Amino acid sequence: MGAGMVAASEREPLAEEAAGTVCPACSEASRKAAIEKYLRYELFGCDACGLQFWEPREMPDARWYEQMYGGRDEKLLPLEPGHKYFLADPLAPRGSELLDIGCGTGNFLAAARDAGYRVTGIELDRKAAGFAKERVGLQRVFPLTISEFAGRHAGEKFDVVTFFEVLEHQAAPVEFLQRVSMVLKARGTLALSVPNRERWMTGPDVLDYPPNHFLRWNAAALKHFLSAQGFEVLSIREQPAGIAHTAQMINMALRTGMSQTAAGEGRASFRDVMQMAPEQAEVVLHAKPTTRQRAMQTLGRIKFAVCFPLAVAAYPYVRARGFKGTYMYFLARKRD
Ligand SMILES: [Zn+2]
Repeated sequence: MGAGMVAASEREPLAEEAAGTVCPACSEASRKAAIEKYLRYELFGCDACGLQFWEPREMPDARWYEQMYGGRDEKLLPLEPGHKYFLADPLAPRGSELLDIGCGTGNFLAAARDAGYRVTGIELDRKAAGFAKERVGLQRVFPLTISEFAGRHAGEKFDVVTFFEVLEHQAAPVEFLQRVSMVLKARGTLALSVPNRERWMTGPDVLDYPPNHFLRWNAAALKHFLSAQGFEVLSIREQPAGIAHTAQMINMALRTGMSQTAAGEGRASFRDVMQMAPEQAEVVLHAKPTTRQRAMQTLGRIKFAVCFPLAVAAYPYVRARGFKGTYMYFLARKRD
């Protein structure tokens, strides 16, 4: 018997050893157990900076976003709270050169242009980028990643770089912010929004899973991250839970057999669809609902509508409790 075998038998069994993780925001190594599991993914929390991150993190390609977010790429969506917070932020520099990363069909860019900014946008979804250019009249919208844009437009720098609902999708947030920094002027400003991990929720949010979202931020984790990456945080705004959010919570609390049946027999959840191979997802995403499913959807909409008066009645309580909404907005300036 060799010495190696004795040593092996004295070791703890390998199964007992938790695989180590490294925080993608602050590089802190940890051997803590996962706080949530979903299929082959595990969610970890960083004790050093407060970020929650999924392992493994492999970002899908442009085609995946085009498929999953299809339908959003041929219309101008209303402005999101993060867009409005930026346009109303007294600390945001006005009338300067602005780049929006992940500009979609250009709703925010059009509003920023009207507010006096000279605007440029990049968007991975080629159809959305085409819509922004041809239908919204935004001349400078490119179907490029931030790296491709920085490479092809070397020397072009912006006073403001914005990225709303983009950072939570990143597999490597430090590298992403370094690329943002490359296209920012000295003492340039960035504005962003992410889903607030501390939002009022009673169950899982189907959008908040890999490969869609890899990172779950709260205000403390995001402030820590931006400061560590050389930015001075100027504004933080956490959206409070509103009437619609309250109605949604009441709707979920009143979850009946009806909605369960509709969910069970209806379309697969987005969380499951985004795990599918492109061909399979295509079938599910474009399946025509059956008559029964359509009836259930209509009943579901009526039930949700009934929740609104209840939400209005409950709202003073919701406000008093300080429940948070989905959006969290940050404005920060490059320190150099
Ligand atoms: Zn960390």
